Amino acid sequence: MTGRILVVDAVPTNRIILRVKLSAAFYEVVQAASGHAAIAMIRKAKPDLVMTSSDLPDMSGRALCAAIQRDPANARTPIVIIHGEEDAHERLASLSAGADDVLVRPIDDLVMLARLRSLLRARDAEAELQLRDDTRRALGLGFEEETNAFTQPATVNLITTGNLTDPEALLHGLRDRLDHRIELVDAEDALRERTPAPDVVVIAEGPDSRGEGLMLLPQMRASSLTRQAAIVYVAQSHQRREAASALDMGANDLLGSGPDLTELAIRLKKQIARKRTNDRLRANLRDGLRAAVADPLTGLYNRRYAMPHIRKLAERAAEQRRPYTLLVADLDHFKQVNDRYGHGAGDAVLVALAERLRDNLRAADLISRWGGEEFLVAMPDTDLPAARATAERLCQVMAQQPVTLPDGRALTVTLSIGVAIGRPGDQAGPLDLIERADRALYAAKDKGRNTLVIADRVTALPRRRPAPIQPEAHIGPEARHASRT
Ligand code: GH3
Ligand code: MG
Ligand code: MG
Repeated sequence: MTGRILVVDAVPTNRIILRVKLSAAFYEVVQAASGHAAIAMIRKAKPDLVMTSSDLPDMSGRALCAAIQRDPANARTPIVIIHGEEDAHERLASLSAGADDVLVRPIDDLVMLARLRSLLRARDAEAELQLRDDTRRALGLGFEEETNAFTQPATVNLITTGNLTDPEALLHGLRDRLDHRIELVDAEDALRERTPAPDVVVIAEGPDSRGEGLMLLPQMRASSLTRQAAIVYVAQSHQRREAASALDMGANDLLGSGPDLTELAIRLKKQIARKRTNDRLRANLRDGLRAAVADPLTGLYNRRYAMPHIRKLAERAAEQRRPYTLLVADLDHFKQVNDRYGHGAGDAVLVALAERLRDNLRAADLISRWGGEEFLVAMPDTDLPAARATAERLCQVMAQQPVTLPDGRALTVTLSIGVAIGRPGDQAGPLDLIERADRALYAAKDKGRNTLVIADRVTALPRRRPAPIQPEAHIGPEARHASRT
């Protein structure tokens, strides 16, 4: 994986050593000798990751970390702080300040490179989600909804292996430090289906472990239960190969010398926050996709979704040599509903019709809002008698049950339907069938409305004509329609 890394250190030899190691791993390296120079370099070179010494001439590494993260444009840039010596207090202070990791000189190359790969991978994945979210917003799809899922506690599964001393103490220590749902889970049960799915899984190897925890990682990444979970891997000091492998096998974070409670709690908080951001972006995307294919007023599929669906349905019907049916249904004199009762009343009628269509059709039937007050229904496996019975039923449920308008009045609005049947062996494609159903609909309008007409392959049907002006008395709360012929 390539990426541009900014190395910040006042000591030239430190910078050179890192540059050589990073260049050998095919990273592009840019450098700065102070905090202020680093900030200028970030603007200019836009690095993918920053590695800074904890000690800079003009500020601390932690202050630089905070300065970088204050700028929303860099908030996601991973930051690694390099310490001169191991000092538990300093390490925790750097992690609390927002560093993604702390490395100690002399740096363990194996773990460092695995760590950089993992941080850059996470950054890329998040940037991709963010980009899609930006696109979704640019398309005007969906809203920003902060659901209460984000205030609910996260679920953390704790798995220990190889005689880890006192897993219960670890569990209770974490529960004392974090307001989340934390549970011990047996390694054998880690992939068993359960709700809620874990947000974070901690895998802590014990001193006797031969990498049993490590073996779980590929399975966790493949399982639908844990695929989106953040995984925090805890190795013992002597397990540095496992530590490096874990990061490459999909762990999101790593503790390299056993389960230090305070450090684990800090890292868990960060992983939980990340997971939530990513979950929200993914949910936005899903809702946005749904919004792209659904009509906001009725919740029915729109034409964009319906068209490819009908093509697929036609293909499958041809393969299986089965008939299918298209219905085009259009409200009668709907313009008058708007004109007399207002647009809100018109909307209520559309919503009521959508509901009645849903209630009176099968789950396999596709119901779509094809245009303003026109709906297209595609019914697989449906021959002429079944199509006729369905269309008659739909006309009846509209004609016989008035719609309640927002002001409480009841209004009867009728429906005209054109029906076209796709029969096995018929050369007509789905577009021809839509055209036939459309013409049949206008024949139904010609016949007096509140009725259906079945398109016939032989009889020529009239082309669409605009609706004739109707006398006032034809529609209204008390209006009764002529019965269908
Ligand atoms: P016909 O019986 O021949 O179908 O006559 P019609 O009045 O129903 O047909 P026309 O095509 O003349 O008018 C359709 C009306 O549907 C015009 C338009 O304002 C209205 N309409 C389209 N979409 C919506 C909508 O989302 N809400 C509301 N309230 N009205 C809509
Ligand atoms: Mg109409
Ligand atoms: Mg119409």
